[in-house]
Amino acid sequence: MAARLAVSRWRAPLAAAGPGPLLSCRRWSGARADAVYDVVVSGGGLVGAAMACALGYNIHFHDKKILLLEAGPKKVWEKLPETYSNRVSSISPGSATLLSSFGAWDHICNMRYRAFRRMQVWDACSEALIMFDKDNLDDMGYIVENDVIMRALTKQLEAASDRVTVLYRSKAVGYTWPYPFTMADSSPWVHITLGDGSTLQTKLLVGADGHNSGVRQAAGIQNVSWNYDQSAVVATLHLSEATENNVAWQRFLPSGPIALLPLSDTLSSLVWSTSHEHAAELVSMDEEKFVDAINSAFWSDANHTDFIDSAGAMLQYAVAFLKPTKVSARQLPPSVARVDAKSRVLFPLGLGHAAEYVRPRLALIGDAAHRVHPLAGQGVNMGFGDVSSLVHHLSAAAFNGKDLGSMSHLTGYETDRQRHNTALLAATDLLKRLYSTSATPLVLLRTWGLQATNAVSPLKEQIMAFASK
Ligand SMILES: Cc1cc2nc3c(=O)[nH]c(=O)nc-3n(C[C@H](O)[C@H](O)[C@H](O)COP(=O)(O)OP(=O)(O)OC[C@H]3O[C@@H](n4cnc5c(N)ncnc54)[C@H](O)[C@@H]3O)c2cc1C
Repeated sequence: MAARLAVSRWRAPLAAAGPGPLLSCRRWSGARADAVYDVVVSGGGLVGAAMACALGYNIHFHDKKILLLEAGPKKVWEKLPETYSNRVSSISPGSATLLSSFGAWDHICNMRYRAFRRMQVWDACSEALIMFDKDNLDDMGYIVENDVIMRALTKQLEAASDRVTVLYRSKAVGYTWPYPFTMADSSPWVHITLGDGSTLQTKLLVGADGHNSGVRQAAGIQNVSWNYDQSAVVATLHLSEATENNVAWQRFLPSGPIALLPLSDTLSSLVWSTSHEHAAELVSMDEEKFVDAINSAFWSDANHTDFIDSAGAMLQYAVAFLKPTKVSARQLPPSVARVDAKSRVLFPLGLGHAAEYVRPRLALIGDAAHRVHPLAGQGVNMGFGDVSSLVHHLSAAAFNGKDLGSMSHLTGYETDRQRHNTALLAATDLLKRLYSTSATPLVLLRTWGLQATNAVSPLKEQIMAFASK
C-alpha cells in the first residue's frame, strides 16, 4: 500500500512536468561522487533555520549529516541594533517551546522580546469586540523581531556546526528526483544542483524555501493560491506616553484589519492590511498625516451606524440575560505620537496551500506549504508547528533505523499538519472576507458573531488553545 502511494505520488510530477526552471525528474547519471547528506533543508528563513536547529540538537540525529542551504547572505551582528526592526512576529507559546527545545529561546530572552497578556479584537462598524486574556498572568504570546529570532537560530546553528553545515549564498537551482523503483545504475537519492554548478545528494529534502517554493514547483505539487486585494503596511511606532504595553490590539476596519503589537513601554509595531492603493498612499504620505491616519483608524467611530449599534446592543442584552457572565468592556488602545523614519514598508498579501506536504524523499514546511493572511499572526507559528511535527516523526524513524525519506513516517507528518493548517487557513480566509467590508448584513453577522463568541469562555479558550499550538 505504502509503495503504491509512493508511486502514485510521483506520477503526478512526471505527467505535469513542464519547462519550469527547477523542474527535473530524470535519472541521475552524474559520474562524480557527490557528498550525501541525510537531510538537506533548502531555504534558511525562520522556518528552515529552525528545522536545521531542531535536527541538529535531536539526540537521534547526532550521527547524521544535515545541510542547510540559504540563497541569501549570513546576517552578521556585532551587537543588537538600538533601533527595532519593522519586521516582527507574534510568537505563540507553542513556538516558544519549540525554540526553547534547542536553546534558541534563551538567546531571544537575552536580546529582546515583549510578552503580551491580553488581545483585544474589535469592529470599527459596531461596538462588538472579543477580548482574550490570561487571568493567571501567563503570557499569551510574544512579539519578537524576525531578525532577533534569526540571530538566535544562527547562534545555535554555529554551536552545532559539527552536525549541521550551513551554506549561505547557496541557491539551489535544480533538483533531480530518484525513480520510484530502484534500478541497478540509478542513485536512490535526491540530487541538488547549486548556483555555482556544484552538486550534492540527500536522502531527504526538506523544502523551506518560502511561498514561491522552487522545491514545490520542481516536485510538481499543486498549490492552491490567490492574491488578496490587500497589502500590509508595517512600521515601528512611538507611543504618546509610556504604558505597561502588554496588549495586542487589532481593529477590523471596512478596508481590512489594523494591528498594534507591543515592543516596549514606548514602542509598538504596526501591521495595517488595506487595499493596495491605500497601502501605497500610507507609505508615501508625510509622517504627521500617517500618524493621524493610524490614530483615527483605532479611535474613530465614523463607520458606526445607529441600526448596527441598536442591533448589537439588543444581542448583548439577550446574551447577558441568557448567560449572565462578565462581558469584556472595550479598552482604548494607546495613541501614537510618531513613526520611525524609514520603517514604513508594504507587503502584498496572499493565500497558498500545497495539495501535498510530502512525497518520497521530500517534505514541505513553512510558507513553502502554506501562506496565510497576517491577521491571525499565524504564518511562522504554523511553520514552527510543521518543524515540531516533522522532527517528531523523523526522530522516531532515526531511532528505529528507518530510511528517513520513506513515506511510512512522512505521511504521519502530513496527516498531523495538513488538517490543522487547513482549518487555520480556512478560518483566516473567512475572517479576512467577512471583516473587510461595510456591507450591513455582513456587519450584523460579524457583530453578533463577535459578541456571542466573547460571551462563551470555553469557546474563547478553544480558539486560544488552537492558535497557541
Ligand atoms: C506583514 C506580515 C506580518 C506577519 N506577521 C506574522 C506574525 O505576527 N506571526 C506569524 O506567525 N507570522 C507572521 N507572518 C508570516 C511569516 O512572516 C511567514 O510565515 C514566515 O516568515 C515564513 O517563513 P519561511 O521560513 O517559511 O519562509 P521565508 O521567510 O520566505 O524564507 C524562505 C527562505 O528560503 C530562501 N530560499 C528561497 N529559494 C531558495 C533556493 N532556491 N535555495 C536556497 N534558499 C532559498 C530565501 O532566501 C529565504 O531565506 C507575517 C507576514 C507578513 C507579510
